[in-house]
Amino acid sequence: MGKITGFMEYGRRDPGYRPVTERVKDFNPVELRNGAKEIQEQAARCMDCGTPFCHGAGCPLENVIPEFNEQVYQGRWKEALDILLSTDNFPEFTGRICPAVCEGSCVLGINKDPVTIRQIELEIIEKGFELGYVQPRPPAKRLDQRVAVIGSGPAGLVVADTLNHLGYGVVVYDLAEQPGGILRYGIPEFKLAKWVIDRRLRLMEAEGVVFENQVRVGEDISYHYLKNRFDAVCLSGGAREARDLKVPGRDLKGIHFAMDFLIQQNRRLGNETMDPALDILATGKKVLVIGGGDTGSDCVGTSIRQGAAEVRQVEIMPEPPPTRSPSTPWPMWPNMLRVSSSHKEGGQRQWSVATKEFTGKDGEVKAVKLVGVEWVTPAGGGRPVMKEKTGSEFTIEADLVLLAMGFSGPGRNKLVEDLEIRTVAGAIGRDSRNMTNIPGVFVAGDMTHGASLVVRAMMDGRRAAAGIDAYLGDQRGA
Ligand SMILES: Cc1cc2nc3c(=O)[nH]c(=O)nc-3n(C[C@H](O)[C@H](O)[C@H](O)COP(=O)(O)OP(=O)(O)OC[C@H]3O[C@@H](n4cnc5c(N)ncnc54)[C@H](O)[C@@H]3O)c2cc1C
Ligand code: SF4
Repeated sequence: MGKITGFMEYGRRDPGYRPVTERVKDFNPVELRNGAKEIQEQAARCMDCGTPFCHGAGCPLENVIPEFNEQVYQGRWKEALDILLSTDNFPEFTGRICPAVCEGSCVLGINKDPVTIRQIELEIIEKGFELGYVQPRPPAKRLDQRVAVIGSGPAGLVVADTLNHLGYGVVVYDLAEQPGGILRYGIPEFKLAKWVIDRRLRLMEAEGVVFENQVRVGEDISYHYLKNRFDAVCLSGGAREARDLKVPGRDLKGIHFAMDFLIQQNRRLGNETMDPALDILATGKKVLVIGGGDTGSDCVGTSIRQGAAEVRQVEIMPEPPPTRSPSTPWPMWPNMLRVSSSHKEGGQRQWSVATKEFTGKDGEVKAVKLVGVEWVTPAGGGRPVMKEKTGSEFTIEADLVLLAMGFSGPGRNKLVEDLEIRTVAGAIGRDSRNMTNIPGVFVAGDMTHGASLVVRAMMDGRRAAAGIDAYLGDQRGA
């Protein structure tokens, strides 16, 4: 424990965000960082609990939080970094965009504000880069076995990084122009600057990982091709099949999936070549975002920066309570109202609203008919059922509608179809080693557990890498 009385002496200090008036004029990251001294003070708040729920029940990666907090308080950044990297391949990603599941189960959070674990993590890795502790670490010995990783989102990158350090030859294929998956193309620059991804990719390349972009595996190259060149394959293609809204008027122009809008903005900032005729822009438009989650919130922030005339966001579920709901007691991840940095920038949010119809003129969407709903628990108990509220219909003007209602699964994938890989409720099935029903073909991330979080994709990547290592170890008789 860093400082026995730390949690009594210091309060939680979040670094905060750039002023709204300034940040909406650009796409640069909005969150500020605490200085090293403040971070050491924040680390002193850790109580080094006998049972650290943050580590066990909270962080999916099982980051060893109390241990790195103590090293940070003592100013031993290298030791803190070694502890952090023992469980987290890329703390520069989780330190920036993890919702900090750990903080929901911090013991201090029972009656005070939890420790700023995510901020401490970010400072450790950034100090690591700054002080030169993070350097390329190619494996001391190369094995003959090679692994192909299909998809370069956080899951695929973790598989590649882990196996490369174990000595396997790793090639990462992705159909996109640049690696990173949703880190690069979904999450806006104002939450995660893309130089952070590039810095990691350069490191991985220097360590021997090979990236092949603009290759759609299953179509540009076949499983036969991979099987001849690799000893194992890991599928980490994500779960990008967006949920649609099949109501009258859906085929009007101006209604798009949120990801198409977000991907374009990230590609624009990345100076990628795009057809201007296909531009989806909120500039001067009345925007309606349907779906109240993180993807919807990213659409709000992006629309505001593009100069939308008006931004609204509707959600079919009821408004969560302002503080932890009794249905998710500590140490569970609290169900409660979350206000993102984008929500603080403008726009209006409405809950318990369902979409009935899109209406338009000359084939273009102009308005959306909505209705208020309530969620009623059936008399005999069970899951609440949605009921429209009589007389609560209303119409709002909108000439850009963004559908952000979540993802149903990986969608069609030729390689999966050709190999007849077993699926479970649309996702790719696997055994306890993350292997599919095809020997030597593994799976990791959203593609198998459904759309989730970066930290969960990374955790699953570590699991898949361990499974592949065990499988290839058996093959070589290790
Ligand atoms: C808009 C948005 C914002 C989000 N914000 C956050 C956040 O702030 N914090 C958080 O924790 N989580 C966030 N998430 C969730 C998180 O990004 C995902 O859970 C995570 O990226 C999943 O990682 P993955 O590696 O499994 O898949 P992905 O990141 O989707 O990567 C899959 C990769 O596979 C490639 N691919 C697919 N098929 C093929 C093929 N046949 N051949 C070659 N390549 C292929 C794709 O091009 C892609 O690059 C967000 C998600 C979205 C959509
Ligand atoms: S990865 Fe996320 S949950 Fe884990 S310690 Fe970091 S911020 Fe907390």
